[in-house]
Amino acid sequence: MKICDLFGQGRTVFSFEIFPPRKTSSIETIYETLEQLCSFKPDFISVTYGTGQAKDKYTTVELANLIKNRYGVESVAHLTCVNSTREDVNEVLKQLKDNGIENILALRGDINPDIPPKKDFKYSSDLVKFIRKEYDFGLSGACYPEGHIDAASLDEDIDHLKEKVDAGVSHLMSQLFFDNNLFYDYMDKVRAKGINVPVEAGIMPVVNKKQIERMVSMCGASLPQKFVKVMQRFEANPQALRDAGIAYAVDQIVDLISNGVDGIHLYTMNNPYVAGKIKDSIGSLIEG
Ligand code: FAD
Repeated sequence: MKICDLFGQGRTVFSFEIFPPRKTSSIETIYETLEQLCSFKPDFISVTYGTGQAKDKYTTVELANLIKNRYGVESVAHLTCVNSTREDVNEVLKQLKDNGIENILALRGDINPDIPPKKDFKYSSDLVKFIRKEYDFGLSGACYPEGHIDAASLDEDIDHLKEKVDAGVSHLMSQLFFDNNLFYDYMDKVRAKGINVPVEAGIMPVVNKKQIERMVSMCGASLPQKFVKVMQRFEANPQALRDAGIAYAVDQIVDLISNGVDGIHLYTMNNPYVAGKIKDSIGSLIEG
């Protein structure tokens, strides 16, 4: 099933994101995680794509395959292009097709200052056009409620988002954010530019101290006072911090659903306990 066909049915789409285990040798540990995540019956699970090294791409394909064909949940394979040639990308596309995967999140990928980008793809819209020419995948794209870090302005970023959608993306998943008002303002701008595809809100429950530190240093999402206060109050107590992080995410989700969001995309960090607690709290709300 194509992801865009999940929308417009009077309910809120609810999906998960997972990442492949960092070491190929620990791939087995993901099976239990997947089994539990799939038991919460998300509408789909997306699998991130790594640095473009061979071991990463096969792991993404392998997990997307397991989710769909073993656990019966629709899957989305992330695919980046900036460090790949057309041949590299084509090889992954063939693998995805051969494994019956129907959906791809088409991404540029981050530019690593130590790795000069390959020349074949500059932006995600180039990848979208390339895939569209030869294949029939459902294509999703990334969007950034606070603007992408490389963009000169939010307006310009939304202009490029429109190009990506016009190139063939039929569903968007947002970068994580902690302030719903930023998302609502963004959605007003996106719709005003004529971007009418469904947009899922990216929610990351922050449940441990390491995550807070990473968030502050790299994610670029603004941290509202309410969030900072919660994190400061509970950072010395791991269990309280976990519970407060889950409660904060649930609060965000309840507000988003009340405001008619198309879908919630939960960054699970491969943590079924957290995903399960959130699903338990909002299960009756997403049914419409
Ligand atoms: P693009 O859509 O190409 O945009 C990148 C920048 O270029 C933006 O600033 C945009 O405004 C600008 N731009 C676009 N088109 C043009 C144009 N024609 N002219 C000038 N400027 C232009 N990374 C991974 O490595 N693996 C993953 O699995 C992964 N999953 C992600 C999932 C989600 C939901 C999100 C939000 C991000 C994910 N990322 C992932 C991170 C992503 O790869 C980076 O944010 C990357 O820097 C941008 O990718 P993009 O597809 O949004 O790029």
